[in-house]
Order: sequence, then C-alpha cells, then structure tokens
Amino acid sequence: MHIDQLLQQMTLEEKVGQMTQVSIDILHHGEPMKIELPPRINEEAFDTLVRKKMVGSILNVPSGYLPSRQEWYELIKKIQDKAEETRLKIPVLYGIDAIHGVNYCKDATLFPQPLSIGASFNLEKAAQIAEATAYECRAASMPWNFSPALDVGRNVEWPRMWESFGEDVYLNTVMGVATVKGYQGDDPSAKDKVAACLKHFTGYGIPLSGKDRTPAWIPERYLREYFLPAYEATIEAGALSIMINSGEINGIPVHASHYLLTEILRGELGFEGLLVTDWRDIIYLHTRHRIAPTMKEAVRLAVEAGVDMSMTPFNTEFTDLLIELVREGSISMDRIDTSVRRILAVKQQLGLFDEAVHLPADYPAFGGQEHQQLSYDSAAESIVLLKNEDQLLPLAKDAKILVCGPAANNQRALNGGWTSSWQGDMADEALRNHPTILEAIKDRQGDHFFEYREGVNYEVEVDFREAIWKAQEADYIVLCLGEDSYTEDCGNLNDLHIPDHQMHLALAMVETGKPVILVLAEGRPRIISQFEKEVKAVLACFYPGPRGGEALADILFGKVNPSAKMPFTYPQYANSLVPYDHKYTEDRDVDESGLSFNPQYAFGHGLSYTSFEYSDLQLNQKSYKADEHIQLSLTVKNTGQRSGKEAVLVYISDLYASITPPVKRLRAFDKIELAAGESKEIRFSINPSDLSFVGQNNEWILEAGTFKVEIGSLSQEFELLG
Ligand code: BGC
Repeated sequence: MHIDQLLQQMTLEEKVGQMTQVSIDILHHGEPMKIELPPRINEEAFDTLVRKKMVGSILNVPSGYLPSRQEWYELIKKIQDKAEETRLKIPVLYGIDAIHGVNYCKDATLFPQPLSIGASFNLEKAAQIAEATAYECRAASMPWNFSPALDVGRNVEWPRMWESFGEDVYLNTVMGVATVKGYQGDDPSAKDKVAACLKHFTGYGIPLSGKDRTPAWIPERYLREYFLPAYEATIEAGALSIMINSGEINGIPVHASHYLLTEILRGELGFEGLLVTDWRDIIYLHTRHRIAPTMKEAVRLAVEAGVDMSMTPFNTEFTDLLIELVREGSISMDRIDTSVRRILAVKQQLGLFDEAVHLPADYPAFGGQEHQQLSYDSAAESIVLLKNEDQLLPLAKDAKILVCGPAANNQRALNGGWTSSWQGDMADEALRNHPTILEAIKDRQGDHFFEYREGVNYEVEVDFREAIWKAQEADYIVLCLGEDSYTEDCGNLNDLHIPDHQMHLALAMVETGKPVILVLAEGRPRIISQFEKEVKAVLACFYPGPRGGEALADILFGKVNPSAKMPFTYPQYANSLVPYDHKYTEDRDVDESGLSFNPQYAFGHGLSYTSFEYSDLQLNQKSYKADEHIQLSLTVKNTGQRSGKEAVLVYISDLYASITPPVKRLRAFDKIELAAGESKEIRFSINPSDLSFVGQNNEWILEAGTFKVEIGSLSQEFELLG
C-alpha cells in the first residue's frame, strides 16, 4: 500500500506508536536487564505493547540469554503475528546491534570488530563482512542493524574507541561506505540485506574527559571537517537510518539540537531516512542533561529537534506524553506525519509489508564454512606487527615457548563488547568452539608445546612466581596483555597505563633475559612505554574476533604474513594523546620539553615478514586547476623472500593555509598483494576538492598553494592554482 494512503488512515495513537521503540526485555517476565531465565514471554505485556500500543519497533536481545536463530524466528514471528492483529497490520521493525556479525545469535559467524577492520585497510573485506552479517541477520529475521559506528575515534581513552574504524576521517568514511553498501546492497528488501544505522550522529568520538557520554566541545569548523564527512558519504551511499549521539556538544545535548538534527542533517546533508534516539536519551534530557525540567518537555524538545523514533526503551511514557503534546497543540500533526512517513518508508524499503520474517532453513550459509573463512582471513589481516627486532618472528614450530598473561586464554580478549552479550561477558561460553591464543598455539605446536602460566589475570596475581620460574626454562615468552571486554560507560578509565600487575608481569618477564614477544589484545591503546623498549617483538590485536587466536598463532609461526597497519596513533605517554593529523605546533623539535610528537607507534605503522620498496613517485602535472584530478603513480616492489600484502597510504600536506594546516592527512590508500620479487605500478586519482578544508566562515574552501604528497619515504610537491 502507498505510505501516504496508510498515513491518512492512521489515528494519532497509531502514529505515535510507530514512533516508539521498546526493549524486548519488557515483553518478558522479570525486570528489564534482569529477566527471568530461560526467557518467557509475558503475554499481557506483549499484547499491550504490540497490539494496544502498536509500538513501531522492538530492539535488543533478551538480557542474559543467547537465542538460536530458530528461537529468533519464533520470537519475531510471534511479534509480527501480533502486529497482524492490529487494525492496519503494520509490521514491527526489529533492530539489533550486529556490530561484528550477529553477535546476539547463537552460532552466528562473528568477525573482527571495526577497529580491527580499520587496521586491515581492506575495503573489500569490510564490504564482504557487512554482506555476510546482513545475510545472517536476516537469517534470524532481523532486518535492521545498528551499525556502522562512524564515531571517528579522536580520543583514545574513550571506551568505544574500538567500535570505530580508528582516528582518521578518511578511513572512517570509506570503511563506512563499504559497510553500508555491504549491508544494504542495491535493494535492502532483498532477503539477504538489512538497513544500516549510522551512529552516533555526531561528534561522539571526542569526549573531553575521555569518558563515555560526557561533554564534547567541538567548534563548528572541526565538527564539519572531522565529524560530518563520514555521514555525508554514507548518506549519499543510501543509508536508511541514523542513531543520535547521547552526548552534548558545546552545551547542547545532541538529542535536543534542532541545528544538528534538522538544519544540518536534513537540510545540508539531505538525509531522508529514519532518525532514532539512543538508549533512554529522551529521558536523559530531563534526568541527566537537565535541560528539560519535566519529561514532557524532554519529549517536546527531542521531537521538535527532529527525532523520529524514541528508544524509550522500558516503558511507553514517551508515547503517552507525545499524544498529550499533540492534543494540546504543542506539537503539530504535520510534524508527527513527517516522522511516521519516514518510519513506514524504511519498513517498506525493507520489504516488511510483504515478508516480515524469514525461514531459517532458507539461509544455508548461516555460520557456515564460507563466512568462517572470511572471519579468519579478516582476522589475519587485522593483527598489526608493531615491532620485530632482529627478525625474531616468525618462530619455529618447535620453539620452547612460555605463554602467559591475562589475554592468553579467553575469547573476551579477542572479541570485546557486543559479543553474545552487551559487555561481552558471555563470549567464553558462547565461543568455546573457537581456540583462544593459547589453544591455537598449543594446536600448532602439538608435542612441542612447553608451558602456560597466566601470571596475573585482569584483577590480581595468579601464579606469578611460577610463571617466572617456567620462563627460566623457556626460549621465548609470549606475553599476552591488554584489556578484558567492555563497552560504553563500563569501560571508562581513570588511567590509560596498562594496569600495574600486568606491568609487573611484563617487567618480571623482561628481567628473565628471555626474548619477550608482547601480544596486546585491547580495544584502545594502554600505555606500555614502561617496558616496551625491552621486549623484542610486539603484535597488536584490536578485537580480531573469534578466529583471532588462530590468526595470531599463524602469524607467530609464519604461516600468515602480517599486513595490518595502525588505524590510530598509539601514545607513548598518557599526557601526549595527539593524533597523527595534529598541527605543526604540536610537533616542535624542542629538546627535552616533551613537545615533539613522539608516539609509541605512528598511525599507519605496521610491519611485514617481507619488505616493500616504494619508488618512482610520479605526478602527471606540476600544477593543477581545481577541476583537474591529481594523478599519482608509484611502483611498489616486494624485495623480500615471501609474498605479502601491503597497504599503500597516500598522505597530503597543505604547506600553508589560512586555518593552521594539519601536518598531513590521509587522502587515499590501496591494499595490494605481491609475490616475492614482484613489483606493481599503483595509481591514485585525487580530486583537488578532497584537499579543501573548513575556513574562517565555517564553509569548505579550497586554497591555492603548495601541497606535498607523501607515500612511504617518497614525497613530491605540487601547486594548486587559484
Ligand atoms: C548504544 C548504542 C546501541 C543501543 C542499542 C546504546 O546504549 O549507545 O550504540 O545501538 O544502545 O543497543
């Protein structure tokens, strides 16, 4: 049926119902976030919410439970059957956080987390992961995925750093576009596609304090230059929905910002899809942000700002108050219609009016070999070799290794949050069929495996002394440190240093004189400069997913040649958290004053077991007009003994500009594979408009002048003409 026809028939209650999204928990017996297990539908609440209140959307997994896709099918079918009992039979839009595969469905294929995908610099893999995720989502009858997160991670302390593709605008933008296309394809109603939900609009990745959902101060210039481009490109790519940032920017909670949600998002970026709040965020306008003295005022502010759907999520107070606001004339029916039209449009674009659920049996590739292989391959491309003194790695299969550290033997360290449960605390149980780092090393070494001692866990010392004794007999120590799983406020930190007892273990291991191979398994950089100089090799895993243990072991023993690069700047000091595209004033070469930019590992850094030589950088012209593309070419040669993949990163610096220019910006990249001895010519075409920046009037400008291209150690200057 045509949406406008449907809208004409709808009562105010039916419309506002569509604008309401509740958590699946409140359809079950028990308390929200603590339902009774095994989950049992509370038929009365179910009937009230779906039939009487006619909620437009339901989200989340029954808390503490991991349903199979058959159970998902039954649950969602029950919801859609109930929706069929309503007057207009509008299907319910089910939303889920399937951020690295369908992490809330038993036996689904899980993939590396976004930060790892960023590290792979492989856009093709990003798209394939999104395609596989969309397929498996629909296999569980879930058509709406709250992903990708486009929160350019500009503050590495932030506990959601790993949910982003890293610190760079361009990397987030192109990864975001690849992901949206993978989720939605050309036709999101196809039975293997889902609606993407870009989040969290906007400026979520730079809280001043580093803590989640705390204030950000973002001058409009930087908002436009760093936090809008990824949205602009993914909206252009057709993203059907967006979720709002829970934080405040410059004193205004984004959920109440008409300027951001309507003027910029709708007016300038041309977004026509569905805009949903984040968790309880209308309530928080009243209780946390305190800009609305009552809940009713909070509802009014958010709806007037531009919200289409409220993730309430535990009651329908929003619904009742919005009805009141319309009845008393504070909010117009037109305003309501605009939102409902968008919500119905997404349901239609997803084909829900025709087929609201899908039979699990129609999805034979769910959790199958092909998706598993993709998970392994992408994990293998996402682990960064940061240091390899004297080519210590790879190790021989029969090397006598002591494996230790809290990250060695669990899946939580490989998967992070949003894995089987919100905080990832059910991952070890749910993913027990996949080997941990320790299990994968044991498997590869067979009878040669030497010993494992945890040494310390994430909280306390365990068998610290024994670990040291065993180390004396070993030839190598694989020391696995880092972070447990967490997300959102639960991952807030007061200290970016690696926790003390992990540091003590590292110092003790280094002290043995045995070569230490440090494996970092973490969602953001924990400072390791207290002992980094003493370890011989470093590998970093930013939650590579369930196959990460195997991928890591295969890198250790040389079956896989690492090819990932840093998607953010790894700081050396807790008070020097400066990204790679900082200003010149942040990188002054001044003696010991600590001002010079000196990270532990630079953005874009990553080693291989082979070596690549870059040569012959050519530009097709010396100077360019604004409408002439800059055509670059260079030759990359694999000068080592084995084949390898290489991410070729193109940086451009604007040497002088009316707004202080960053030292450099990533403007293009390509990931290639070369056999030993092979060389290839690589070409890039850069549009001069990509070199524009937001000027003094907060508008994009392209300034004439000298620019420098840098690729590896090669560089060349060119002129942009006025
Ligand atoms: C998170 C979102 C997520 C939503 C629904 C919120 O707490 O901030 O990223 O999509 O919950 O689960």
